[in-house]
Amino acid sequence: MSGGPRVRFAPSPTGYFHVGSARTSLYNWLFARKMGGTFVLRIEDTDTERNRREWLDGICESMAWLGLNWDEGPYLQSERRPDHIAALQRLHSQGDAYYCDCVREEVDKRNEANGRKTPGYDGFCRDRGLEAGEGRALRFKVGAGDPVVVHDLIRGDVVFERDTLDDFVIAKPDGSPLFVLANTVDDISMRITHVIRGEDLLPSTPKGMLVYRALTDAEYPAFAHLPMLVNEKRQKLSKRRDPVAIEDYRSKGFLPEAMVNYLALLGWSPGNDREILPLAEMVTEFKIERVNHSPAFFDVAKLEHFNGEYIRALSVEDFLSRAEPYLREGYSEAQHYVGSFESGIVGFKQIAPLVQERVSKLSDAWPMADFLFVEDDSVAYDSAAWEKVMVNGKVAAAGMLSGAVELFELGDWDAEALKSATSSVGEKLGLKLGKAQAPLRVAITGKTVGPPLFEAMVALGRESVLSRLKSAQEKLGG
Ligand code: GLU
Repeated sequence: MSGGPRVRFAPSPTGYFHVGSARTSLYNWLFARKMGGTFVLRIEDTDTERNRREWLDGICESMAWLGLNWDEGPYLQSERRPDHIAALQRLHSQGDAYYCDCVREEVDKRNEANGRKTPGYDGFCRDRGLEAGEGRALRFKVGAGDPVVVHDLIRGDVVFERDTLDDFVIAKPDGSPLFVLANTVDDISMRITHVIRGEDLLPSTPKGMLVYRALTDAEYPAFAHLPMLVNEKRQKLSKRRDPVAIEDYRSKGFLPEAMVNYLALLGWSPGNDREILPLAEMVTEFKIERVNHSPAFFDVAKLEHFNGEYIRALSVEDFLSRAEPYLREGYSEAQHYVGSFESGIVGFKQIAPLVQERVSKLSDAWPMADFLFVEDDSVAYDSAAWEKVMVNGKVAAAGMLSGAVELFELGDWDAEALKSATSSVGEKLGLKLGKAQAPLRVAITGKTVGPPLFEAMVALGRESVLSRLKSAQEKLGG
């Protein structure tokens, strides 16, 4: 067993794996790896109404995908309930907790009558000596005393006056332990030395510290509360409003290396303006004290830019093997296509380096190269592209198509030759190369944008190109 620090990532499996959770997980992992410590995965699954097995699987799979391996766990908090119950009993029997049967309305009424400034619990049952019983919650007795000071590695000392904490509930009337209790008991028994988690949990930290001290003399763990993630409007990221699910980024074709690199920079930077750096270097450079406390902007455009950089840095072979599942997916979803996948991929391999330079996500490869996978007589013309280039520019389009059919029948079949043939047809019609290419591109790929056209033609082959040009001629009429 390692004698180094012990950190934990303690997600609640209540939904897709949020980018904020991934960032928390990554910082714990970086810290553990840097310090030669132990990274524990603890699943806080006590909210049986909101927890689902598939969310737990999603967390584990996403962490594995990101390369964040854990050393212990996953421990399920729900299986540790006997420990939590024992702690509740102990806190009650040593006088640190008491039963309370107050209902909200009564507390509110009393607070109003007493002119109490804070809306929280007024301590009514503190000295009533109630025993456990139906409808009775268990509250922690905060009591008078020095303020509770959280020594935060990122924010410095954060001071909580005791009268702002109230006697908080640690077990519901049905006896079930609440978050602060279960969370703290587990941190004690797992001998956690550093609690690295989101800033949203900071208000619960002084409560956890009181529970901690009531249960053990052991030193408190060190705390580090990570900055909130915000969108471009500086609003806290929300599941409903913002794209936050790691699973979605994965299915859109973000590379795990790019994702991890981007996540690492949400609150931390290695200095020297460096941004793109491999995980191993992040481990060397990582310092929790260097994490910033101000909100971090989760910028999807920047993430995409990172991803593009990572994609371009792959070897062509690696790019091909990573892109293939996304091509297969695009292919299987495009039901009107009748070509064979195998022949399409042969063409794709030829233009792979050109696609690789132009995509920022692996899922962009399919729409850029789908024309390679269709039969020549079933090119799916984008209707706006057809309208703009073929219908509105009918004379030029018709001239280009017939000129190209004539010249492409003979001559060399390479990008240079195709380019000069296209230029010469265009010149006769008074068209610059860009304008001259457009109808050919629509005829061949169905779109106005795509990979470099002449290389794409080479990949398709002479026969296919001629056949597509002729189909477009027919459709255009005359
Ligand atoms: N289970 C808590 C959550 O998902 C995190 C607890 C912690 O990190 O201390 O918000």
